[in-house]
Amino acid sequence: MFRKILIANRGEIACRVMATANRLGIRTVAVYSDADVNSKHVAMADEAIHIGPAAVAESYLRGDRIIEAALNTGAEAVHPGYGFLSENPDFVDAVEGAGLTFIGPPASAIRAMGLKDAAKALMQEAGVPVVPGYHGENRDADFLANEAGKIGFPVLIKARAGGGGKGMRLVETPNEFAAALEGAQREGEASFGDPVCLIEKYITQPRHIEIQVFGDGHGNAVYLFERDCSMQRRHQKVIEEAPAPNMPETVRTAMGKAAVEAAKAIGYQGAGTVEFIVDGSGPLREDGFWFMEMNTRLQVEHPVSEAITGLDFVELQLRVAAGEALPFSQDDLSIDGWSFEARLYAEDVPKGFLPAIGTLNHLRFPRSSEFDTGHIRIDSGVRKGDAISPWYDPMIAKIIVHGPTRAVALNMLTTALADCQISGVVTNLEFLGALARHGDFAQGNVDTGLIARELNQLTEAIPPSNSIVAAAAIIGAGLVNEPKSSDPWDQLMDWRHWTAAQHHVGLEFEGDSFDLLVTTKSVGTFKVEENGSVTEIGISKNGEDVFDILTDGQRFSISAVQFGRSVAIFRDGRSYTFTLPDHSVDVGGEQPAGNSIVAPMPGLVKVVSVQSGSNVSKGDPVIVLEAMKMEHTLTAPRDGKLSEVLVAVGDQVTEGTLLIAMDGDDG
Ligand code: ADP
Ligand code: ADP
Ligand code: MG
Repeated sequence: MFRKILIANRGEIACRVMATANRLGIRTVAVYSDADVNSKHVAMADEAIHIGPAAVAESYLRGDRIIEAALNTGAEAVHPGYGFLSENPDFVDAVEGAGLTFIGPPASAIRAMGLKDAAKALMQEAGVPVVPGYHGENRDADFLANEAGKIGFPVLIKARAGGGGKGMRLVETPNEFAAALEGAQREGEASFGDPVCLIEKYITQPRHIEIQVFGDGHGNAVYLFERDCSMQRRHQKVIEEAPAPNMPETVRTAMGKAAVEAAKAIGYQGAGTVEFIVDGSGPLREDGFWFMEMNTRLQVEHPVSEAITGLDFVELQLRVAAGEALPFSQDDLSIDGWSFEARLYAEDVPKGFLPAIGTLNHLRFPRSSEFDTGHIRIDSGVRKGDAISPWYDPMIAKIIVHGPTRAVALNMLTTALADCQISGVVTNLEFLGALARHGDFAQGNVDTGLIARELNQLTEAIPPSNSIVAAAAIIGAGLVNEPKSSDPWDQLMDWRHWTAAQHHVGLEFEGDSFDLLVTTKSVGTFKVEENGSVTEIGISKNGEDVFDILTDGQRFSISAVQFGRSVAIFRDGRSYTFTLPDHSVDVGGEQPAGNSIVAPMPGLVKVVSVQSGSNVSKGDPVIVLEAMKMEHTLTAPRDGKLSEVLVAVGDQVTEGTLLIAMDGDDG
């Protein structure tokens, strides 16, 4: 077994590989770019080597620097994770050429599966069913249109070098064909440097079911059952599960055997996944699945298969790469219970799943095990305070659950998602929650079109209730007092101390402004008036950021955290971030009357209305910062002269960045 390995990746997968290495007593070397100096995977490793600037082409895709780092640190093997160099056969050759071990399949196996057209031809020869279609070299539009006609519409055009859902076009009718082909060829060229496309019969009401395989260098290959990844948006997986719902044992065996044939046909070693497109218009059939592609690496969603088999796939990868035989045969394997994984991303779902960036001001996961099988497992490469940068995949975490039955596991997933709290970054958390609660999904009636069909329902924005708005105002204005002791006299003293009975509190929420009148009735009970409506509410603090709410005959708990002038309220998997505009509360100044103006949150500088040397009066607007889609006006903390303006319009700043310095002498 290896004593030291290098992980040629970042984020959650680098951390996940290191977790197993740690358990096996293997030393780890991380590599990192400029953007990742302070990231979790660097902190977790025994050693870390800087390999270049943030752009992936200059760092995580620089095989030469990574190999040099491995040689310099005495690592014996390289684990590629997924993405980046994991399916690059030239990298495998270079690693082996340097006398190191690649923890993955041989370069020849990656080459055989690298292009979808060649892979399909190879699979056809090996007797694996493939989707009917054209997969030759001809690029001529008329020729291909004619082939599409022969296959019969609808057809799917795929860039043969494509991946991650890119370079694909669904064509329903012949007259759309030419434009779609051009689009797919262009995307293939732009993203993968290869414009050649294949054409496939489009399977209507398809399910995506993939088989996990493992091979070793001793001629053994097994399948570790299936995953259903039909919950997709734009051909990208959102929630995965194992096993697949409504899977007859005969079909499971047929698919497993076909996947093992595929692996054997290319002398496969290590972990791999054979993806099939399956006819989901009726019950699954032995003649109703077709090979799509093989991913010659560990897959993002491998934890659901680990959960139901009780195996650690990274451990198996390491043992196979070290030359061991697989420690089991097909007959030893069985399925235990049910597992789901939800991919939690920093992305704006209503804006078309647009990747988002920002700082994770607040990040709390449910009680779980990290990178280790358990009832709830969280695989994450970020910590509270870390930034989701524009440079890489905006994944925050994978939420994985394992229960005895599908219904129980789905309940666990729903609850686990509801217990996640994130602020500072827009996420798909609410969308995942809505999907986990969706009726068809609960019934196991899944197909790859479900999300698109139900998008409106799944992304329905639920505005904050009156009680949430009232709680945000009361907490944001600092009106919930911290009981200093259990002595009621102390509390009464406190209460007398801030006896101002009425406060006007301004709040902003996603572009809406609220103007609330908060009347303190007694310790912890308030009347909140807003635009004619009255909310009577009791709030008491019950833990660091947990508040018990009593209103309208209902009792529940929320979490609330404050950063800068924002208050984020969390309830049941939903989060609401309110901002208290300048001078919004008639108690307590927020900005320290110091000699500087710092960014209260990460954001984009939208307006700079002053210059170095300007004279300002207390309260003058000086900078507008855009954060979380809202604008925040920062004002001068006191009268005086600005000695230096340190930012310009268009600058992206992090929380605490010094924006403006004031002359010290007149303050
Ligand atoms: P899956 O494992 O579900 O099949 P994909 O094939 O979509 O996932 O890709 C796996 C992950 O690898 C994605 O989340 C993506 O972030 C990352 N990835 C894929 N290709 C690249 C690439 N060329 N460079 C960097 N990351 C990549
Ligand atoms: P990628 O390399 O981008 O992962 P795949 O070939 O694996 O590309 O296809 C991605 C997704 O596109 C599948 O999971 C499935 O949802 C859909 N898809 C692919 N081929 C077909 C097909 N022939 N018919 C219907 N849907 C398909
Ligand atoms: Mg795929």
